[in-house]
Amino acid sequence: MTGERRGRGRPALFDGPTQDRYLAAVADGMYLNAAADRIGIHRNVPTRLARTDAVFGARLNDAKAEGRKRRIDNLPHDESRYCNYKCRCPQCTTAATTARTARRAQDTPPEQEDHGGESGTIHDLIPGPGTTVGKSVSSLLLLRAS
Ligand SMILES: [Zn+2]
Repeated sequence: MTGERRGRGRPALFDGPTQDRYLAAVADGMYLNAAADRIGIHRNVPTRLARTDAVFGARLNDAKAEGRKRRIDNLPHDESRYCNYKCRCPQCTTAATTARTARRAQDTPPEQEDHGGESGTIHDLIPGPGTTVGKSVSSLLLLRAS
């Protein structure tokens, strides 16, 4: 290999071109850690630089906002998009309406619920004799206090 060679153990350079590639990956919708892995830099490096370099910090924020938008844009148009991202396109609206209707039909209470017999499980919170209580003591006390 020609050109610059990094010494053993030296961290990867996060120079101008590398920053550009990183920011492009983030703006493309990659998560920060994934983008750092892709570029081959440590995950802390961009965050650290953003703290000291206001210009890079601003670019990183822009890239993150763009990436977030792109991730959302890539989501399928369905109920989750309707609910979580307020998409009101016909496809999302229809999906949300269909799902809601189905849930309501399902939520209709059944004729009878069986509460008799052995349906419940009783957990004994008090340790038996000879049991080492150990770490669970505080949680036991909390349970009893409530
Ligand atoms: Zn939609």
